[in-house]
Amino acid sequence: MTIGPIHASKVDLFLACNQSLRGDLATEPDFAEAATAMGTAVHAVLEQWIMHHKHAVLEQWGMHHKPSGPTRMIGDIAPRVAEGHGVDLAELESLCQRTLNACAHIREPLWGARHAELRAEARIKTKLVSARLDHLRIGWGHDRDGNRTGPFSIAVLDWKTGRELRAKPGQLYAYASAACVAAGGFPSQGWVYTGEIWCRHDQVIQRKITAERLAAFEDKLKRALDRPSDTYKPGAHCGFCPRADTCEARVARLKSTADALGGLPALPDAKTIAPADLARLYDKAQDLGRLLDQYYKILNAAIEQHGPIDVGDGSRLELREMTKTEIDAKAAWRHLRQAGLSDEEINDVLSVAKGKLERAVKAKHPRGKKESAWSELFGVLRAADAIRESSYRKRERIHA
Ligand code: SF4
Repeated sequence: MTIGPIHASKVDLFLACNQSLRGDLATEPDFAEAATAMGTAVHAVLEQWIMHHKHAVLEQWGMHHKPSGPTRMIGDIAPRVAEGHGVDLAELESLCQRTLNACAHIREPLWGARHAELRAEARIKTKLVSARLDHLRIGWGHDRDGNRTGPFSIAVLDWKTGRELRAKPGQLYAYASAACVAAGGFPSQGWVYTGEIWCRHDQVIQRKITAERLAAFEDKLKRALDRPSDTYKPGAHCGFCPRADTCEARVARLKSTADALGGLPALPDAKTIAPADLARLYDKAQDLGRLLDQYYKILNAAIEQHGPIDVGDGSRLELREMTKTEIDAKAAWRHLRQAGLSDEEINDVLSVAKGKLERAVKAKHPRGKKESAWSELFGVLRAADAIRESSYRKRERIHA
């Protein structure tokens, strides 16, 4: 059975388990990344920004790094997009800006090319893959007479807005493969540059894909497409599989996870389990967490539809209206004073939300002055010792 071409975003899942995609599932729009409204909005803003600054981008990112400039235009584009997608404007602007800042430090890909071409959201379909490249740069080589000889350099950048950093090498190889087809060949520079820009993490995963590696990837994908295995291979990727809800192999894996955890709800004994064994359970535990989230959604919907449900042990599950109490600081201020609270005590119970404050300050200034107004106020607050910073430890997965 032959399927394909395969959607680039599904290549990693497909190579991990052929059973995940069958027939038309392989080329349907991406289900796994479930493009969030924020992710879509970030892509929309960056596409408009990049095409507006096409020549400046080529010059800045290819040869002369000038990090200033993009803020104002992001501010021009983002409000309409934020409104259209129903997302928070400050977060959207911040994610776009962080992406551009990360990109501004990528200078290498186009060095040596005399003329370059830039495309945003480039749709490319080949015999193997279909892809939509967030950002494609092709640097053209020329002979002594100035005639174009073919691609000298190719760079592919991919914006990632996910909260969990999951490297997807197969997707980037698929992009590289598609980009070479679009450029009419492999770049004479000797590699295709790819960069995954994880804007929430301020991380860029960079690769230089040589012709040999790309050929090996294409060969592997072609073999998998021509002769998909009928073996199920459950793993961390199951959480992103369209068959996940019904797959017995996944359920068996989750059951073994529960067993490995000592049977739910018991946890492994922290004193006796080896740290390496604990870390090895991480992927499975995350998958289990996603499954539990689905379970809670289904359960809530059932209670919504049928009313309280008996658990069978004399208890029942029901949805109860909860009240969240908030105190309006402006209205309460005078009364807190009258109640005898000191500055320190009021300070302990009231807090200024930095994100909201930033938004309020920027809203008071015209375009082009917003950033400087906020920086100035932040500097004043810091000088007045009003800024409190604390560090905390957060578990992160680092990919080599
Ligand atoms: S749920 Fe996992 S094992 Fe089952 S088909 Fe999907 S990827 Fe394969």
